Amino acid sequence: MTTVDEKQARQVAEAARETQWRKPSFGKELFLGRLRLDLVQPWPEPDPATAEQAEGFLDKLRAFLVANVDNAAIERDGRIPDEVIRGLGELGAFGMKIDQKYGGLGLSNLHYCRALQLVGSANPSLSALLSAHQSIGVPQPLKLFGTPEQKQAYLPRLAAGEVSAFLLTEPDVGSDPARMSSTARPVNGGYRLDGVKLWATNGTLATLLVVMAQVPKSDGHRGGITAFVVEADSPGVTIERRNEFLGLRGLENSVTRFHDVFVPADNVIGAEGKGLRIALTTLNTGRLSLPAMCVGAGKYCLSVARQWAADRVQWGLPVARHEAVAKKIAFIAATTYAMEAMLDLSCMLADDDRNDIRIEAALVKLFGSEMAWVMADELVQVRGGRGYETAASLAARGEKAIGVEQLLRDLRINRIFEGSTEIMHLLIAREAVDAHLSVAGDIIDPEASLGRKAKAGARAGGFYARWLPTLAVGRGQVPGGFGGYGPLAVHLRFVERSSRKLARETFYAMARWQGRLERKQGFLGRIVDIGAELFAMSAACMRAHAQADPAGRELADLFCKQSRLRVEALFAALWDNTDALDVQATRRVLDGRYLALEEGVLPAVPQAGEWVSSWAPGPSTVEDVRRRLE
Ligand SMILES: Cc1cc2nc3c(=O)[nH]c(=O)nc-3n(C[C@H](O)[C@H](O)[C@H](O)COP(=O)(O)OP(=O)(O)OC[C@H]3O[C@@H](n4cnc5c(N)ncnc54)[C@H](O)[C@@H]3O)c2cc1C
Repeated sequence: MTTVDEKQARQVAEAARETQWRKPSFGKELFLGRLRLDLVQPWPEPDPATAEQAEGFLDKLRAFLVANVDNAAIERDGRIPDEVIRGLGELGAFGMKIDQKYGGLGLSNLHYCRALQLVGSANPSLSALLSAHQSIGVPQPLKLFGTPEQKQAYLPRLAAGEVSAFLLTEPDVGSDPARMSSTARPVNGGYRLDGVKLWATNGTLATLLVVMAQVPKSDGHRGGITAFVVEADSPGVTIERRNEFLGLRGLENSVTRFHDVFVPADNVIGAEGKGLRIALTTLNTGRLSLPAMCVGAGKYCLSVARQWAADRVQWGLPVARHEAVAKKIAFIAATTYAMEAMLDLSCMLADDDRNDIRIEAALVKLFGSEMAWVMADELVQVRGGRGYETAASLAARGEKAIGVEQLLRDLRINRIFEGSTEIMHLLIAREAVDAHLSVAGDIIDPEASLGRKAKAGARAGGFYARWLPTLAVGRGQVPGGFGGYGPLAVHLRFVERSSRKLARETFYAMARWQGRLERKQGFLGRIVDIGAELFAMSAACMRAHAQADPAGRELADLFCKQSRLRVEALFAALWDNTDALDVQATRRVLDGRYLALEEGVLPAVPQAGEWVSSWAPGPSTVEDVRRRLE
């Protein structure tokens, strides 16, 4: 096992960060107290020529899904049939994000996300397959960092339907890549790869893999975590297991062992030591696919809730007419509208390449995965007992086969993978305080010399003298501010005022806690959640205004009113919370002070087995369980 202390782990993450901001960022400005609607105005529109082509593809995709995908069978068998995978390949669904010159469809982010939404509504394991393949699998890192030869060699194969996977996680590497123990030893003409990778989506099926491994530092090798394209049938690659989960029953997810696998030097993506930066940059837009499926889930929740709650009568009324149920349906409708606005806006900004969208994509992933989970949970409640019953069981009793429990199970993983909520909070908070760190970082760095601190002090003095006064007053306090937005102006004024308040609170926290701020995860999480709500409100208002549709305006208005209550509660909790008490209590829990509370149930943790499986380098001792398409 690789031993890494906290400081080293942070250094690895920091080194992988993209430090430059070459293009403007709406999200970054929001955290600095500046509501820069000019950066997202006018509401971007997809290019009409490519949009028409993309709509044609979406029509064919829809028809294919309706005719060929049997969600119940995938749930029952835990397997996506070969003919469905092949059929999607023939339609070009594995090349949605690959340029046309390599045989792909070259869809925009907007239409790619629409396609994932559609596919996810047929079966979520299918959209996970397509998204893992092209958002994090081989196509995207090659598109961004590949050489012309690599693109020519691999992209046409992938566009034609070969499946790819992305292998970063190891038993000992989850959120913290510094502990990576897979190695790639330089040898004549290339590298020898050894290691075990865990939970690789598509891993049992993929023929091409992106593999992250540590190259040891040596003469002529700068070393570090490096990304490789690996042919999955190379000698020494064994698919040791197909994993099973709470949801996504059709997922083809593997444990993959590499034993002395030769990888040619030409297969390095980018350069040695750039692997994590490549992974993070890939995720900048790759992260948009997950909320696309969450928006799809919102639409599903709304459709089921609307029809069921109108039909189901209890206590003399359709359940939708009981206030407690009505509130849930209103929440689902408003949240779905805002989530879709956030997603579409982020996609279109990514497509026109005008803005840096890394904060927006991270916010929509965070907000989308959290809110979709709440919406699905509320839908279970609206459906009552039927929400807890499987679709197959409902159908067997002659009722409509609506799989709300499947939706809940399938959605849960979105809060964990592609950056867990806790890690997304830290990642976004890091960017949100970046302006402070870049001017005042040395003041709060315990390891900086006195000279560096003094220089930073002078720099910070100038920055804050200019910046702080801008946080006092703004358009949000002017009664007619944002008047062009009609009835929605009141919400934009709130967003503007809250953005400045957010920046003031962040500055105050920096001054109060200095270097300890990075440990105040409760505080940072709330700062980020407020930012996500403000982005959602802005996007909802912008969309409603641009589309000039009265129904959209109603939903944006409702969303903003609901969101505002959450924002106010989050602001209040910044300084009034049990964070410190909770940290102390958890120390006591771990010290065993409350052991008596665990009595009365059978032992929760089995004696057998390890918490985290260990692995030793060497050839595989189990049968290869790779799936080959017929
Ligand atoms: C179905 C499925 C599919 C997956 N697909 C892929 C794939 O295709 N490729 C791939 O490489 N990986 C994949 N993964 C792995 C996934 O990305 C990881 O599960 C995820 O990164 C979290 O890592 P972990 O599970 O080891 O949790 P851990 O890192 O062990 O974290 C445990 C908990 O601690 C929290 N935590 C950790 N560090 C911190 C911190 N510094 N501050 C606050 N909280 C913290 C986490 O948020 C989490 O709540 C998949 C996993 C699953 C279950």
